[in-house]
Amino acid sequence: MGPSSWERRNQLSPRPIPRIMCSLLLALVTLLAGPALLRAQASGTQVVILGTGTPNPDPERSGPAVAVVVNGTAYLVDAGAGIMRRAAQAAALGVAPLLASRLGIVFLTHLHSDHTIGLPDLIHTGWVLGRKEPLRMFGPPGTAELARHLTEAYAADIANRTEGLQPHTPNGWQVDARDVSAGKVYQDSNVTVTAFQVAHDGWKVALGYRLESKDRVVVISGDTRPTDAVVDACNGCDVLVHEVYSADKFALREPDWQRYHADAHTSTTQLAALATRARPKLLVLFHQLFWDATDADLLAEIARGYRGRVVSARDLEIY
Ligand SMILES: [Zn+2]
Ligand SMILES: [Zn+2]
Repeated sequence: MGPSSWERRNQLSPRPIPRIMCSLLLALVTLLAGPALLRAQASGTQVVILGTGTPNPDPERSGPAVAVVVNGTAYLVDAGAGIMRRAAQAAALGVAPLLASRLGIVFLTHLHSDHTIGLPDLIHTGWVLGRKEPLRMFGPPGTAELARHLTEAYAADIANRTEGLQPHTPNGWQVDARDVSAGKVYQDSNVTVTAFQVAHDGWKVALGYRLESKDRVVVISGDTRPTDAVVDACNGCDVLVHEVYSADKFALREPDWQRYHADAHTSTTQLAALATRARPKLLVLFHQLFWDATDADLLAEIARGYRGRVVSARDLEIY
């Protein structure tokens, strides 16, 4: 359901779709997407899935990015490819805090390119569309350096827009970036954000995040092999967004890739065991490595070892 299936139908259509059909399809999409988005407005803290993808450039799945929306503010976790387009889609469907100019804070789990490649888009598109304050960015060691290099890389653009005729906010191009490690990294009147160390291949510091608002606790695993820190951070949390790969398809992978994935990521079998201990009210499969499996296949694999509520996330779903 949702816009992705609409996009798929449109993209695969062999000839242009008549305008009336477009209108009908759009109405259908709004109808289908509406209830989830309306729920987002009606109740408190919401988890908006902006991108579920991996480095594989699947047009149905933007790069990894999640927005936790609390009391009119979006707290982003990671900034994969396509983040601003997905945020604009969500805003157009009614989640106003995801308007480009209102995206002001992002927490990075680690510095792999698929989780950070949308940062220049987040920094500069947000500014061009009116963000007044510097973008606040938190992440593992190397984050501040990454932000500095990105600003340098776009120096010509920044000079052109600030020195020419284009109306602009004076400080919106800046990034207030901070390197963090495990522990409380941020607090305001809406949320407390705590980082915890996870285990992801060779990264010295790779982080998951626990966002606690007045009404919900949301835990996002980041990229990790099974880690007790996720269990401790969740411990009966409302929503656990956890990365995953298909255990069945993993068995068909080449040995060198098996070695990497076993060290870097979490299989469905492992996640079922982990979630049983973590006891989330809702488990969200995220950043899924399918290897030709389907969402239904992943859910079936999880169900072999886990009895709780679970969904396999698609872009633009809201929990
Ligand atoms: Zn990674
Ligand atoms: Zn990743």
